[in-house]
Amino acid sequence: WYENRYPDCGVDTPNHFYSYSFHRNPGWSGYFSKRDELHAYFEDCADAFGVRDRIQLNCSVQKMVFDASSSRWRVVYRDETGQIQELEAHAVVSAVGQLNRPAMPEIEGLASFEGKMWHSARWQEEDLAGKRVGVIGTGCSSVQLLPKTAERAGHTTVFQRTPHWVAPARDYYKPVEPGLIWALKHMPYYAEFHRARMILVFGDRSWPAVVSDPDWLDQSVSVNEANHVMRETLIGFIREGLGPKQNYAEACIPDFPVWGKRLIVDNGWYETLAREDVSLVPRGITRVTATGVVTDDGAHHDLDILILATGFKSNELLSPIEIEGLEGQSLADLWGDAANAYKGTVVPGFPNLFCLYGPNTNIVHGGSIIYQIECQIHYMMQCLALIASEGTAINVRGAVNSDYNREVQALSRQLAWGHPNVESWYKNQAGQVVNNSPFSLQQFWEETHDMDPTDFEFVEV
Ligand code: NAP
Repeated sequence: WYENRYPDCGVDTPNHFYSYSFHRNPGWSGYFSKRDELHAYFEDCADAFGVRDRIQLNCSVQKMVFDASSSRWRVVYRDETGQIQELEAHAVVSAVGQLNRPAMPEIEGLASFEGKMWHSARWQEEDLAGKRVGVIGTGCSSVQLLPKTAERAGHTTVFQRTPHWVAPARDYYKPVEPGLIWALKHMPYYAEFHRARMILVFGDRSWPAVVSDPDWLDQSVSVNEANHVMRETLIGFIREGLGPKQNYAEACIPDFPVWGKRLIVDNGWYETLAREDVSLVPRGITRVTATGVVTDDGAHHDLDILILATGFKSNELLSPIEIEGLEGQSLADLWGDAANAYKGTVVPGFPNLFCLYGPNTNIVHGGSIIYQIECQIHYMMQCLALIASEGTAINVRGAVNSDYNREVQALSRQLAWGHPNVESWYKNQAGQVVNNSPFSLQQFWEETHDMDPTDFEFVEV
């Protein structure tokens, strides 16, 4: 919410669930609030819990080395004045996220484009009136920014490599009814009930539809019956939304199962593609020229502005921070593009280091990343208590981590996003799912609820 400021940027999980369980906000204006309101909520949390005087802003961590002789981390960072500083810490919690470093597409000639060009997470306010605007990408960011962009531009061209599934959400633009706000504020336990209901309705209710059914014979485009029913429903939604532009329908239907990639909440995507001043180009891009984009059919699309809604460098977790663990091993070398951690949180050989939103914790079937992170924090707090009580560093056992991750991979192969037709940022070069959780929300809560001290060994000083 700090990085993304594109038009109509907002959350696609209901706010009453996409917020901290320990800092409820009964006053959300909408069910799916927009970026400014979300950002203000997080700012408010910092004030409410009095943490501002413990935060050093504009610092960039360069390197962290675990010093086995003192069982402490040495953290080297550049401070806001540009000076290199160093501090020692018993434990380090990484909360750098997975989705904040823009991925620029590797397209020949991109740098030669002479019009204005920017990434969706580096939004530039520009007068689009009369301009020919190109948008590369059809993920969540593109879907959200397209309608408002198309309203302002002269003509908008969407370059689609592969289509995503997009589903309607009844309450997407609806303001919260005063009666609900009153109940959340005054009715005992109503806020808890409402949150629990959201967790089920927008999360685990979809879970049965993402798990592959071995008796479902044709697994080419769906993984079970409920998944197939959803596919048929969404195809109907595509055709309805495209209205006069039925010629786009085939190109808009993904060849992978629903929930193979995060199901995008609709904000008028197909209606926007159906506008006369919007074109969908469902083709690969061969190169970018000074004046536009060339697609693999040889066509040149003249553009004044090029928007790159091409996602984030999500497979390089914790990078570019250099992290050295026990015996000087590098975390980046250990992981390569196959990051893995026990409970998505702790890594063998890197004692007292905790990764929030770490490997295999992202959710696709529906859910709130804040919920996942709270589960991880619950787990981590038990680890910190052990560290404090024993007065030493703890290192998760290698065999425990290997067993856990074998299960993570075996489960992932059974889920919609492990389907062979899915190519996404969730997978690494080898096709392994490295970002997503293979667990339902309830299962992840159970996984992280009780830390088992025997999973760890103490680091000898
Ligand atoms: P994304 O899901 O990774 O989508 C990137 C898009 O760019 C894809 O359509 C991809 O095509 C396309 N692309 C990348 N390189 C390309 C190339 N060289 N040529 C043509 N197309 C190219 O990124 P995102 O939309 O920014 O979303 C990232 C994640 O952020 C989401 O999955 C979601 O978790 C989160 N998000 C959430 C919200 C929300 O809460 N409302 C909003 C935005 C984002 P392919 O599909 O073919 O790979």
